Amino acid sequence: MARTPLTSITPTDLLDAGETPEPAAWGFATRAIRTGHRRTAEGEHSEPLFLTSSFVFQNAAEAAARFAGEAPGNVYSRFTNPTVRAFEERLAALEGGECCVATASGMAAILAVCLGLLKSGDRILASHSLFGTTTVLFDKYLSRFGIRTSYVPLSDLEAWASAIDGRTRLLFCETPSNPLAEMVDLRALAEIAHRYGALLVVDNCLCTPALQRPLALGSDLVVHSATKYLDGQGRCLGGAVVGDRQRVGEEVYGVLRTAGPSLSPFNAWVLLKGLETLELRMLAQAQAAQALAEWLRGQPAVLRVHYPGLADHPQYHLVGTQQRTGGALVSFEVAGGRAAAWRVIDSTRLLSITANLGDVKTTITHPATTTHARLTPEQRAAAGISEGLIRIAVGLEALDDIKTDLARGLNALSCPCS
Ligand SMILES: *Cc1c(COP(=O)(O)O)cnc(C)c1O
Repeated sequence: MARTPLTSITPTDLLDAGETPEPAAWGFATRAIRTGHRRTAEGEHSEPLFLTSSFVFQNAAEAAARFAGEAPGNVYSRFTNPTVRAFEERLAALEGGECCVATASGMAAILAVCLGLLKSGDRILASHSLFGTTTVLFDKYLSRFGIRTSYVPLSDLEAWASAIDGRTRLLFCETPSNPLAEMVDLRALAEIAHRYGALLVVDNCLCTPALQRPLALGSDLVVHSATKYLDGQGRCLGGAVVGDRQRVGEEVYGVLRTAGPSLSPFNAWVLLKGLETLELRMLAQAQAAQALAEWLRGQPAVLRVHYPGLADHPQYHLVGTQQRTGGALVSFEVAGGRAAAWRVIDSTRLLSITANLGDVKTTITHPATTTHARLTPEQRAAAGISEGLIRIAVGLEALDDIKTDLARGLNALSCPCS
C-alpha cells in the first residue's frame, strides 16, 4: 500500500485500492488534528502560516481570470488565505457543517450572519440570556436598520412558539447560556423555527463541537467566538460561522470579503493549534467544573449553584443527550449581594479576575458589574443576573488549588468575627 500523499490527507486517502470511497469518517480527535492541512513542497509537519496580504499571478491573464472568479486561487487575504482556509475546513469538519467562514472575532461572526441574511423589516427572536454585547448589537445597532429583536426566556419553548411570526427570519440562542448555564432543547427549537420558515442560529461558544453539535440537532447555522475555547489559551480573537454552502459560503462570505472583518492568518494558525487539543481540554475542564460545582454546593456561604451537571438543574435531562457534559462554566450565588460577591472575588490570589473565559487559566467574574453591566437593571433581572452572582470559568489548574483559592473568601463570608 502506498504511503499517504505528502500534500494533504483526507479519510479517502487512507482507503486501500478497491475500497469504496465512502470514507470511514474520522473520529472527532482525528479531524481536529488532521483536517485542513495541505502540506507544501517543503514537507513541513506543522501547518504552514501564510502571513501575506496578497498573492501573485503568473501573468496578466491569470490575474484577470482570478479577479473575475473564473479561475480558482488566492487573490487577497480579505477574500481567502490558505491558513485561514485550513482553520475553516477543520472547524467545519468538527461541527459537521458543509462550509465555514472565519471572522476577526465572535461579534464579527454574528454581525456577518445578520448582514448576510437579514433585511429591513425582518425580525430576530432571541433568548434573554445572551452574551451582553450581542444584545447591544441587536438593540442599538441593527434596530437602526429596521431589524427588530424580541426576547423570550431561553428554555421556554412555548414562549418561542408564541412570539415567532411570519416576519421572524432568525431565531438566535446560546445554549448553555452564560453565566447561568440555562439550556434549550435544540431539536424542538429548530422545529419551531422551520414551521415559520425561519433559521435557527446557535452560538456554540460554551460547549464547542467537542461537547455539542447543533447542526446535527436541526440547527441551521452555528456561530463561534473562537476567542474562547477554540483557542483555549487566551491568546487571540477570532470567530466563525458554520452551515450550508449557500448561506455561509455565499451570503455570509460575501459580507466578509466586502465589509472586511476577516480572520488574520496569524490568528487562524493559533486557532488551528487550539483545535488540536480541543476535545481533551473540554473534557478535562468540564470534569473539573462538575467536581467544583459539587464542592460549592456544600459550602455554607453559597446560596445556589448553577451547573447543568447537577441533578437539580432544570435542564439536567439534556446533559448526556444534547450536550456531552455540563461544560466548564460554573456560577454560584452568595448571600449579601454585590459586597459579598466582590469580597469573594478579591480574596482570590490564583484565579484571574477577568471577564474572559475559555482559557486553561481559571477566571472569576462578577457578571452584574462587568459582562452584563451594559444591560438595564430590568434586562439583568430578566436574565437572572443577581448582584450576588459569581461566575467561574474552570481551567486546567489542579482542582485543589482552585478550591483553596475560593475557600478563603467563602470562609470569610460565613465567619461572624469578620
Ligand atoms: C465572547 C463571546 C462572544 C463575542 O466574541 P468576541 O470574540 O469577543 O467578539 C459571543 N458570544 C459568546 C457566547 C461569547 O462568550
